[in-house]
Amino acid sequence: MSPISDNLQAVRAQINSAEQQAGRAPGSVCLVAVSKTFPADAVIEAARAGQRDFGENYLQEAQDKLLLIRNQHPELALCWHFIGPLQSNKTRPVAEYFDWVHSVDRLKIAQRLSEQRPDHLSPLNICLQINVSGESSKSGASPQEALALAQAVKALPRLRLRGLMAVPEATEDPAAQHAAFASLRVLAEQIRSHGIALDTLSMGMSADMQAAISEGSTMVRIGTAIFGKRHYAA
Ligand SMILES: *Cc1c(COP(=O)(O)O)cnc(C)c1O
Repeated sequence: MSPISDNLQAVRAQINSAEQQAGRAPGSVCLVAVSKTFPADAVIEAARAGQRDFGENYLQEAQDKLLLIRNQHPELALCWHFIGPLQSNKTRPVAEYFDWVHSVDRLKIAQRLSEQRPDHLSPLNICLQINVSGESSKSGASPQEALALAQAVKALPRLRLRGLMAVPEATEDPAAQHAAFASLRVLAEQIRSHGIALDTLSMGMSADMQAAISEGSTMVRIGTAIFGKRHYAA
């Protein structure tokens, strides 16, 4: 077996055991393989090992990779998640090529994605990125803005609001990891209490997936543990 398929198997086993420890149904956590900085061949290798969902951060890189794979391997039928920072003048390719966007943090971006989503495609799945650690440098809407943003995004015709996403401040302290993920879960519960259906909590990366799953993550975004260390800053 190749390293990528070995790694995938190990990550799936970790997810299964975290689901079990948390008393959650097997298969309740979706694995998004974050392939940023890795070539199309790495994605194809993972896809042949059964991986369907892939996450990308950088639009130009993602677009080239995705189109190449779609043209050369239409049989793979992959599901693509945009998880990186999004500028409002670069929304069109995201609306045209992706299935999910996890990083919507303001209404203007959502409005453009809705306007630009082609009619022949199903509505674009959206998670609102929330800054749960309160760091001024991080992207994401503040928890206080989340409800109003969710209400506005829910009203847009070509989007389907699915849930919340967070990238908490990196820490090795399990208690701090749990606290950050719990705050996203509680925020989602508050939004639901206003009659807005949310079925997705996109939280957990290679270093903190266990804490995220025990706090209710339904989608983990895993790069390093599958593809190895990235060789340029990401
Ligand atoms: C890079 C990235 C990931 C994956 O991180 P790893 O630590 O490599 O698993 C997940 N989510 C976002 C938003 C990222 O930018």
